[in-house]
Amino acid sequence: SYDVVIVGAGHGGAQAAVALRQQKFAGTIAMIGDEPELPYERPPLSKDYLAGDKSFERILIRPPAFWDERNVTMLLGAAVTRVDPEARIVETAAGDVIGYGKLIWATGGSPRKLTCDGHSLRGVHAVRTRADVDQLVRELPQVNRVVVVGGGYIGLEAAAVLTKFGKHVTVLEAQDRVLARVAGEPLSRFYEAEHRAHGVDLHLSVGVACIEERDGAACGVRLASGAILPCDMVIVGIGVIPAVEPLLAAGAEGGNGVAVDAQCRTSLADIFAIGDCAAHANRFAEGATIRLESVQNANDQATIVAKTILGEDVAYDAVPWFWSNQYDLRLQTVGLSIGHDAVVVRGVPESRSFSVIYLKAGRVIALDCVNATKDYVQGRALVLAGAVIDPALLADADVPLKAMLP
Ligand code: FAD
Repeated sequence: SYDVVIVGAGHGGAQAAVALRQQKFAGTIAMIGDEPELPYERPPLSKDYLAGDKSFERILIRPPAFWDERNVTMLLGAAVTRVDPEARIVETAAGDVIGYGKLIWATGGSPRKLTCDGHSLRGVHAVRTRADVDQLVRELPQVNRVVVVGGGYIGLEAAAVLTKFGKHVTVLEAQDRVLARVAGEPLSRFYEAEHRAHGVDLHLSVGVACIEERDGAACGVRLASGAILPCDMVIVGIGVIPAVEPLLAAGAEGGNGVAVDAQCRTSLADIFAIGDCAAHANRFAEGATIRLESVQNANDQATIVAKTILGEDVAYDAVPWFWSNQYDLRLQTVGLSIGHDAVVVRGVPESRSFSVIYLKAGRVIALDCVNATKDYVQGRALVLAGAVIDPALLADADVPLKAMLP
């Protein structure tokens, strides 16, 4: 039995252990993770790690010795399948039973799969784990044509890397623009033009009917229209399903994620949830209950839980931020654009350095900044303040954003 058991050795789980020790928590800590690796950064999986520019050692969240030094017991390669909140135990797939004083659920999610025929063929890949990417990279030498299903950040980042490798890449997006779920139209159109300029074949408003098979492997994607796109590899980036089954089975409230309060407590006593799997009321979404899939959210929620366990009176209200690297474009996002009713483009997209500013009822709620770090840094204050600023002024790239704070 451990004073704190953390389930999930990813971004949130790792930061929870780090923050507990930083806050001088003296009790015992165990981390149970179903992947074999020590906690590592996930963002590089579709960026520098996929590109081969960063080794696995360089994406570890902490050096291996750190966990021993901080007295964090690592139980890796073990999936928790059952939680018993009355007995205060978790059980693993192998049948091991581990007692806890407090339980921190930080399991992220599993990539959503296509449901059509052929979805599990050899050559069909998700990009969620190191194992996913290593397998994909092993197959790459035999691959010329890649179809990416899903024009979200992960699909587009993978498309950018594979294009650089000289692969012929096709991206399929069901909506009428890429990044439709997370960004405004000007940003979508900019990235569409960039990918096309780099040789990516981009199809919008298309549905996938099935994956075509040859000798047990994927050899093409059939569209709903009947057209077939021949390929040697399919990469699927169509979202994440939060890994909360054992918690919901134990009676925790939730559905799409497990419901948590401002201290990341679930409805079950002494069980917290953080990161991609935690459905929380977010101040920057006007209090709406959402899940955020970002390193910022996983880390900040982990810190809130550590402080709460140590008796500090804190509540989660961190400003969301995110980034994406594609080609030589560095996108940095602050705030949440959900529910915006106006969009301002600041600067000239053709210059490849500009920002898209999102407004709701006149207030600045978010910025997407492309190769525009100054706007990102200065825009944060506008988002925090919910500043009301004349859109014409916001659009004037000659006036620094920090000069606009009322
Ligand atoms: P994870 O980091 O996913 O960790 C959860 C861990 O729990 C996993 O190892 C999982 O296998 C394990 N687990 C699940 N169920 C169980 C179980 N029952 N028992 C034991 N272990 C279990 N975010 C950004 O902010 N910027 C980016 O640029 C960015 N790029 C990304 C690129 C890719 C390819 C991916 C996949 C994600 C990216 N993200 C990015 C999102 C970010 O990585 C996640 O939001 C973050 O990892 C969430 O942390 P987490 O702790 O909730 O989950």
